[in-house]
Amino acid sequence: MQTLTKIEEIRGRSRAQRAAGRRVALVPTMGYLHRGHLSLVRAARQRADWVVVSIFVNPTQFGPGEDLDRYPRDLERDTALCVAEGVDALFVPTAAEVYPAGFQARVEVEEVSRPLCGASRPGHFSGVATVVVKLLNMVEPDVAVFGEKDYQQLQVIRRAVADLNLPVEIVGAPIIREADGLALSSRNVYLNDAERRQALGLSRALDRAEALARSGGATVAVLRSAAVAELQAAGVAIDYVEVLDPDTLGPAPNADGRVLLALAAGVGPARLIDNRVLCLAAPGSPCMAREGASG
Ligand code: AMP
Repeated sequence: MQTLTKIEEIRGRSRAQRAAGRRVALVPTMGYLHRGHLSLVRAARQRADWVVVSIFVNPTQFGPGEDLDRYPRDLERDTALCVAEGVDALFVPTAAEVYPAGFQARVEVEEVSRPLCGASRPGHFSGVATVVVKLLNMVEPDVAVFGEKDYQQLQVIRRAVADLNLPVEIVGAPIIREADGLALSSRNVYLNDAERRQALGLSRALDRAEALARSGGATVAVLRSAAVAELQAAGVAIDYVEVLDPDTLGPAPNADGRVLLALAAGVGPARLIDNRVLCLAAPGSPCMAREGASG
């Protein structure tokens, strides 16, 4: 595996692969890799011949007082994980390489960025969209893979890529969880044992809402209050609990009855997010069947 730090190098290698008729995939990350990230690498490998993982803790997506300075980093461990996973190239640019002096352009994705984390973290999705568009321009992949763990981020990126006519396929990959339900996140390292137990409130809230949705007759308001009750019982600090249209992030449900239940909560020093797409249509409807199929 090659580890590259310069835009020119990664672009040159990627172009050479594509010129040789090989498909290139990019998996953008902020490092401190876990099984969630590695599942994206596997999804990328299924769709491409040459897989690039980027590691860049992007300063422009962190607000003042957020965890940019203490965000966990371990390049040696990340490198070993990528080698073991058969990654072809690791791209680890410096902040000066990505944002040289004089940098001032931003990518703004308007409506999809507004609710949820966009409301709690002003400027966050502008930072995300900007760095992802830049990484796509640096690596020029055929396909890029993102986790549904960051559901709104995935929708923002899909919108940016479509609206800016970027020639890349965007693939979303399912959320990877611990055996007890906690969604894997680099930020889970901030949790002590008691907070780790409290954090299970998030996946429990999703499970409870899913059970209500499957039993039929639940409404958006019922799902929301069931999730709120679970989070309150866990004693976490609710940031938001929202039920939205999974495609537009506007009001739910969408035409076929699907809804996105999205949560954010403070647990000790960590801010955690989780989500699930549920079906509010009658049992036997196409969206119920799809839910069942996706597990
Ligand atoms: P991050 O390093 O947290 O910026 O995440 C990099 C990529 O990994 C993003 O596309 C995330 O959505 C994805 N990701 C993070 N955690 C998970 C998880 N538990 N399951 C699936 N994908 C994940």
